[in-house]
Amino acid sequence: APQPKHLSGDKAAINEFLDQFDVFLLDCDGVLWSGDNLFPGTVETLELLRSKGKQVVFVTNNSTKSRADYQKKLTSMGIPSSVDEIFASAYSSAIYISRILKVPPPRNKVYVLGESGIETELKSEGIEFIGGTDPSYRRDITPEDYKGIADGSLLDDNVGIVLAGLDFHVNYLKLSHAYHYLARGAKFLATNTDSTLPSNHTFFPGAGSISIPLINMTGQQPTALGKPSQAMMDSIEGKFQFDRKRTCMVGDRLDTDIRFGIEGKLGGTLAVLTGVSKKEEWDAEGAPVIPAFYVEKLSDLMG
Ligand code: PLP
Ligand code: CA
Repeated sequence: APQPKHLSGDKAAINEFLDQFDVFLLDCDGVLWSGDNLFPGTVETLELLRSKGKQVVFVTNNSTKSRADYQKKLTSMGIPSSVDEIFASAYSSAIYISRILKVPPPRNKVYVLGESGIETELKSEGIEFIGGTDPSYRRDITPEDYKGIADGSLLDDNVGIVLAGLDFHVNYLKLSHAYHYLARGAKFLATNTDSTLPSNHTFFPGAGSISIPLINMTGQQPTALGKPSQAMMDSIEGKFQFDRKRTCMVGDRLDTDIRFGIEGKLGGTLAVLTGVSKKEEWDAEGAPVIPAFYVEKLSDLMG
């Protein structure tokens, strides 16, 4: 298999690379920063891309934040951006539900496993939902819950969609509700399927770890809406009519970011080594996903 071209320290190769693309889809965590730690040179590298007239789009699988939350984060890191340049998986999920899935009323309400970012984006698309951050679901299950869920008196007949994102308060009561909606035929969606998320030099359970119990219970697979799902690419394209051949996906994770770019038939993919994936992964015999280019860190693009 062809190995990726290493750009770090090679000015001619970097210039040739930059000239090939008009649009850069940038993964956030692991590329621009790690958690709350901005990588040195991120701000300057983005300035360089913008000064060359490149369109930048921030594409993140983080389902806990709305676009507005993300813009606040970018601003706090010193990165200028507009809300329209931000595609987070909560937004991508809301767009998918309202513009692609289009479940007819009355069974068009969403049962949410997730945080406020999902709720904000569902509201922005005018989608009704229950669950989510509602405190009445953040507690132990009771004998009355077992009874009411079983006989349906505690279930909302208008729920026709279950959306699973990262929920920091996931519990048995919430999973029981989600399971029963799915058992009654609700469509099963997941904001993203990241198994883990990196934090403090180790890993914590990702959004994918919230949908796994539901997959186990129902035997169904969710439609996943974050990277590498092409539903995310379609929602970006719905906003920016970009030429895929002149677009490069930049990311730290081969199984989500680089796969997203390859399956989206983009002109290029650039892996950075400041996040999850390691060089050994694409060096390995039979590696399933190989980027077209790589740098040790994003700021290497400054030459
Ligand atoms: N999901 C959550 C909840 C996160 O906090 C993060 C990183 O901060 C991610 C997913 C991965 O985000 P990205 O796609 O920007 O790497
Ligand atoms: Ca990442």
